Amino acid sequence: MVDPYDPEGFRAAGHAVIDQLADYLAGTATGEGPVLRYAPPEASLNQWPSPLEMDQRVPFADLLPQVIAGSHHIHHPRYVGHQVSAPIGSAALAELVSAVLNNGTAEFEMGPVSNAMEKRLLEWLGSALGFGPDVEGLFTSGGSAGNLTALAAARQSVVGIDAWNDGLAGKQPLAILTSEQAHYSNDRAARILGFGAGGVVPVAVDDRFRLDPTRLREAHRRAQDSGRRVFAVVGNACSTATGAFDPLEPIADYAAEHGLWFHVDGAHGAVAALAPAYRHLVAGIERADSVVLDAHKMLLMPALVTAVLYRRPGAADRAFHQEQSYVGFDTHGGAFAWWDSGLRTLECTKRMMALELYASLLEHGPSFFADHVTRTFDLASWFARELEAAADFELATEPQANIVCFRFTPDGVLDLDALQLAVRDELVQSGAFYVVKTRLRDRVHLRTTIINARTDEADLRALMEAIRAAANPGADSTRGGPLVSGGAGRDGDHGHRRIRGAHGSEELH
Ligand SMILES: *Cc1c(COP(=O)(O)O)cnc(C)c1O
Repeated sequence: MVDPYDPEGFRAAGHAVIDQLADYLAGTATGEGPVLRYAPPEASLNQWPSPLEMDQRVPFADLLPQVIAGSHHIHHPRYVGHQVSAPIGSAALAELVSAVLNNGTAEFEMGPVSNAMEKRLLEWLGSALGFGPDVEGLFTSGGSAGNLTALAAARQSVVGIDAWNDGLAGKQPLAILTSEQAHYSNDRAARILGFGAGGVVPVAVDDRFRLDPTRLREAHRRAQDSGRRVFAVVGNACSTATGAFDPLEPIADYAAEHGLWFHVDGAHGAVAALAPAYRHLVAGIERADSVVLDAHKMLLMPALVTAVLYRRPGAADRAFHQEQSYVGFDTHGGAFAWWDSGLRTLECTKRMMALELYASLLEHGPSFFADHVTRTFDLASWFARELEAAADFELATEPQANIVCFRFTPDGVLDLDALQLAVRDELVQSGAFYVVKTRLRDRVHLRTTIINARTDEADLRALMEAIRAAANPGADSTRGGPLVSGGAGRDGDHGHRRIRGAHGSEELH
């Protein structure tokens, strides 16, 4: 039998894999080649034989070229789609180390290094948010799990309800207030926590998609009128669709006045707290009871590295309190020790995710990450100015973060929604750019997230040109007639086929 841990085999394969990844980084640096070699789902599936048909042994290094070729090239400067970071090398290597050392990080004895690093990172992030030295929290796998975790802690902190032990049967139904632009994970969390479909009461937004704090009372009353008890309010910092930062100060005031838990879904934008030029966007975050922050969005980490932070001690423990018989969780006078992070969320085993961020901070310094936030937010403003200045583009709203939504609105098009979809399909299928779409004010918009440290002004100018060209392919094009002059909406067959061609996720970011 071959030695599955053969050190020399691992060394050689590791060199071969790292060489290919370094070539991938070099290749994407120039912006050459497609962002994505688009293949529809069935064609993509057919490239990968079923395990039942694997009659030949293929070393991983030989499989890797096909994996790279078929994947999104997130490091390509023209990937401006979802909020996915282009991870830095230190983080990627740390993830490899996590895969080899595999210290599970549920309790201290399983992962002494990563549990300690997790604590240090929570202190660092907590101080950036303006929390005091009592900050507590945990790392978990994603903002969705983070929001569920924090809202479970919130639910358990509601005076008079011990849902954790007694369930919710016979109790007054609970609800949370949040902006109608909130990420769908909040709604999922509410349903998982037993509040049902009406468990999230939407609060109206202003003309820039920010929660309108003057509408909180009205939403609250609506919840009460339907028999619900509101126990928490969630501020978005920022929203997923447009990057809108809810005004956290007045939301904190409202929460304080009504005895509500104040949670901030800062999965994407809580990092503004690190960047002096954008700190004002999260003013008031220091008053939150809990905050979720995804390091795999704006902090250049691979998925998933999420921090859940609590301003006050004890909140974390209440939510997931169980008697553990077979693991050595330490309790200290009823409170759990910081070093057993598995006690504080739904996950038991988790990767050494803190290692990635800790190692990268040590290697690059905190200001590197603050600068990345500043640069991408600045670039989004610049892009908005360009779009505004162009007669054939329409900005959805002034961007506050690094998310820019807009429409291509040339003259003479009857169905602009269809045009946006057709243009997007063209860009994605040609591999020239990766952009996504979203529906705002009931209109289809193109949506870009400028999150890659390599994306620059020239790429964004080229995006505008590529959109124009996609809508108006040359007469010699084999892709079909122009979408603009004929009116995309009436361009029956072509328009229809193209619109349904690409499988992008709408609303699901
Ligand atoms: C991305 C995002 C989430 C979900 O985070 P995942 O890490 O993808 O689970 C939640 N809330 C907001 C505001 C987000 O932008």
